[in-house]
Amino acid sequence: MQLLKERILKDGVVKPGNVLKVDSFLNHQMDIDLINEIGKEFRRRFPSEKITKILTIEASGIGIACIAAQYFHVPVVFAKKAQSINIDGEVYHSKVESFTHKRTYDVILSKKFLGPDDHVLIIDDFLANGCALLGLISIVKDAQATIEGAGIVIEKGFQQGGDKIRDLGIHLESLAIISSMTDTSLTFKED
Ligand code: 5GP
Repeated sequence: MQLLKERILKDGVVKPGNVLKVDSFLNHQMDIDLINEIGKEFRRRFPSEKITKILTIEASGIGIACIAAQYFHVPVVFAKKAQSINIDGEVYHSKVESFTHKRTYDVILSKKFLGPDDHVLIIDDFLANGCALLGLISIVKDAQATIEGAGIVIEKGFQQGGDKIRDLGIHLESLAIISSMTDTSLTFKED
């Protein structure tokens, strides 16, 4: 997605540890016009009428998923990072190792909001090593729902997540795939 790539080049900042900061337009301050175009692009890439729910993970995925959902006309449900490890039977749970915070979270989702009849599109801001996405996939599987695909705004293609997800046979669409980044240069994989 050309508009997104141009914005990453203009405003993205590379930090130590392979972290790209895009907090001026995507996941702290949010450029709604841009995210609206991102939502339209997800709809174009996932035209299936079967999708019944968009699933994401707090916090950064929520705003993006909500704007995208306006083009799918389905609810958004988000996995919560649990504060406690006391998990009761009314929730699906999974463990996610955070790439940016270097800690492991229990993530939970109420069983009320995902079940066997659901066809799920997963949306998140970044794909790095794939832990967040794999955690969400495991929740969808626990719910015996169907995964229609995963839409990612920025995939860091030099990390392993993309291969892991594609190897599972999941329809993965990343709107910008970074093939390399250093303090002074950033390149994208061609579409
Ligand atoms: P993964 O679980 O695929 O290793 O990492 C994905 C999650 O970590 C995303 O939900 C995102 O919040 C965060 N993340 C991973 N890499 C980056 C990055 O380079 N920049 C930012 N801002 N977040 C990242």
